[in-house]
Amino acid sequence: MASVPRHDLVVVGAGPGGYVAAIRAAQLGLDVACVEKEAALGGTCLRVGCIPSKALLESSERFHEAKHSLSDHGIKATSVKLDLAAMLKRKDATVSTLTGGIAGLFKKNKVTRYQGHARLLGKGRLVVKDDDGESEVEGKHILLATGSKVAPLRGVELDGNRIGTSTEALTYEKVPKHLVVIGAGAIGLEMGSVWCRLGAKVTVLEYLDRILPGMDAEISELAQRSLQKQGLEFQLGQRVTGVTKKGASCHVEREGGDPVKCDRVLVAVGRAPNTQDLGLDAVGIELDERGRIPVDAHFATRAKGIYAIGDVIAGPMLAHKAEEEGIACIERLVSGHGHVNYDAIPNIVYTHPEVASVGRTEEELRDSGTPYRKGAFPFLANGRARALGSTEGKVKILAHQETDRILGVHIFGARAGDLIAEAATAIEFGASAEDLARACHAHPTLAETVKEAALAVDGRAIHI
Ligand code: NAD
Repeated sequence: MASVPRHDLVVVGAGPGGYVAAIRAAQLGLDVACVEKEAALGGTCLRVGCIPSKALLESSERFHEAKHSLSDHGIKATSVKLDLAAMLKRKDATVSTLTGGIAGLFKKNKVTRYQGHARLLGKGRLVVKDDDGESEVEGKHILLATGSKVAPLRGVELDGNRIGTSTEALTYEKVPKHLVVIGAGAIGLEMGSVWCRLGAKVTVLEYLDRILPGMDAEISELAQRSLQKQGLEFQLGQRVTGVTKKGASCHVEREGGDPVKCDRVLVAVGRAPNTQDLGLDAVGIELDERGRIPVDAHFATRAKGIYAIGDVIAGPMLAHKAEEEGIACIERLVSGHGHVNYDAIPNIVYTHPEVASVGRTEEELRDSGTPYRKGAFPFLANGRARALGSTEGKVKILAHQETDRILGVHIFGARAGDLIAEAATAIEFGASAEDLARACHAHPTLAETVKEAALAVDGRAIHI
């Protein structure tokens, strides 16, 4: 009988949390294996999430620009036409290049790959099930990084076609006439933006009285106004209770209002941890009240030698949060040190312009009674934003009233997702607003808006 393969570490799941952890562990000299049920590596993020949506956001923005704003630059693009099939093909090519890249990284780092669904059998033991049957694998340590799946919405039955999730919204073969998006979170706004730019009527139904819950309210409001101008219709305070199909149309039912008729429905009401059939019972792991795997500060579950990171544990469901946790978990395992600074995890929504934030929101500071000073600077007063023709939005910096330490940075504006990196670094290093204000920022760049907002904390912005 063939002996059971044994590794120092078996990672379950090859999303950004799992594959990064596997590579880091291999760099540190461990014999590593990674079990992934899908043929392509990269998880939701690379296959059906962050990457394909960004490809479509880029393409749709160019289409929209060619149709509506290139003429502002003195460029006449007459008869701009959409080739949706080519756009989708480009998106697929982007995905396959990147997922193939991870396979290459695994090879380079000698990470053994098993394709199949992994289930825990007991301490250090897993079974991997594929089309050919089941086989066992052993790991001195096991890291669970199985990510999340689309959260269901009670009363709404997904049909994988007209009533679907972001996965379907990445592959519509025709531009919908009327797309109803349920949920005004990151997915709803990003995919709603794509199809709105390509010509669909888009209605976003949101349960709360605001969009982007969790983001700084002032910045979310700016984003909402801008998206409305772009054509997205928001109906807030709407609890969707069901969707019924009637002929070619879908009727989205909501509490206290007439149904909204449309031809496509995108359900984007959050995600839930992926823990089904993982064999958690076999090792005595019980889920918390929200279906997540409880871990200690070093990502250890209550089962010795089994760790968990990313969307299956508490915290924001973000690829880069999972990556940081994977690296911290592995480094701690090997060297005794490893840490994630949850105050310095940026959050970005890739609308146009982008919404980006790191640290505490103004509401959180107010509610906790933390004394703060606020500095803001509009893109309108930035030379590069003018040249770019993208002058909407502002940078807002919140610093502690007494120590001047930066507590939160919130941006709505051109390339906010790139600008927020400086703010995350500043928070990571415990910088004050004065530190940011005194750092030389190249001219003319959008980054000067961050410097000016830092100056504004002390009431001394130059260009406003
Ligand atoms: P989300 O949790 O960000 O937003 C869901 C929204 O749906 C909320 O505003 C909620 O109030 C609303 N909602 C819930 N039930 C409702 C109902 N019955 N009727 C109407 N509205 C309802 O979820 P998401 O946008 O689906 O994203 C899922 C996860 O993926 C999030 O954790 C998100 O951060 C992550 N994600 C991140 C990015 C990014 O970083 N750019 C992109 C996509 C997804």
